[in-house]
Formats: sequence, structure tokens, C-alpha cells
Amino acid sequence: MCGGLRAYLRLCGHDAAYALDRGAEADDAIAALARDEDRVVVTRDRDLAAATDGVLLRERDSLDQLRELAAAGISLEPTDDPERCGRCNGQLDRVPADDATPDYAPDPADEDVWRCRDCEQCFWKGSHHERMVQTLSVVRRNENAAGS
Ligand SMILES: [Zn+2]
Repeated sequence: MCGGLRAYLRLCGHDAAYALDRGAEADDAIAALARDEDRVVVTRDRDLAAATDGVLLRERDSLDQLRELAAAGISLEPTDDPERCGRCNGQLDRVPADDATPDYAPDPADEDVWRCRDCEQCFWKGSHHERMVQTLSVVRRNENAAGS
């Protein structure tokens, strides 16, 4: 999986593991992980893509790579509620309104906040989230225009 795409895929609810986070660096380790966990390999490595029947990306820029993913038929529709931690891919739970959040996060009584089960990072639909949703909508619009 190409690193720059992780957060976007997770925003769309995809269970997007990053090979280096999982300690998989060699092609055969990545291929084994993908096989064991029934994952699609997204890579810029032609040999690895061919060996795993994965998605080969040719572009370097994240936005261009998102277009390639859309063209490969991968859904880039953000989920209404965030489901996956953009940092570690853990599952997110909604923080109850009367729960405490760290200083960097809004008060869950004022705003919807989600917390990662694994790393405890908090997420909310702030400006960063908005920008990512906006980017994805541009990619989808281009894709629809290209497909028609
Ligand atoms: Zn996390």
C-alpha cells in the first residue's frame, strides 16, 4: 500500500493496512500478508503487483494515485461516520457526549468525536477532514467525467 493513500482509503471505510506498519518490506512478505488477510496489494512495484494480482499505480502524486484507484474500481466514497483510524487503521468508536477527550480534540458534548480502539487517537469532522472529503469528491467527479 502506498503511504500517501492510507488516510484517504480509511476515510472511505477501507481496511487499509500499510505494509511498513506491519513490518512487511520484502515482496514475498507483503504477498504472504495479502494472501493471509485477503487483501488487495496497491503498489508502484510492477513485479509485486503482477505477483499478487494487485493494483499497479504509475503516478507519484497522491491525487493522481487516487484517480488510478478510482479507475481500478475502488470506491472512494467517504463513510458518513469515520470507521478506520487514519493513523493506525484501528476501528473507531464514537466518544459518548459525557466522556473526556484530550486537549487537541473538541468536547464530544459539542461535536461528534471518534476514538481509535488501538491507538486512542481522536478524530472529528474538522477542516482537515473536510479537505480530504473535498479532494475525494474532485477525484470522483473526474472519474465520472472520464467514464461517460
Ligand atoms: Zn489508531
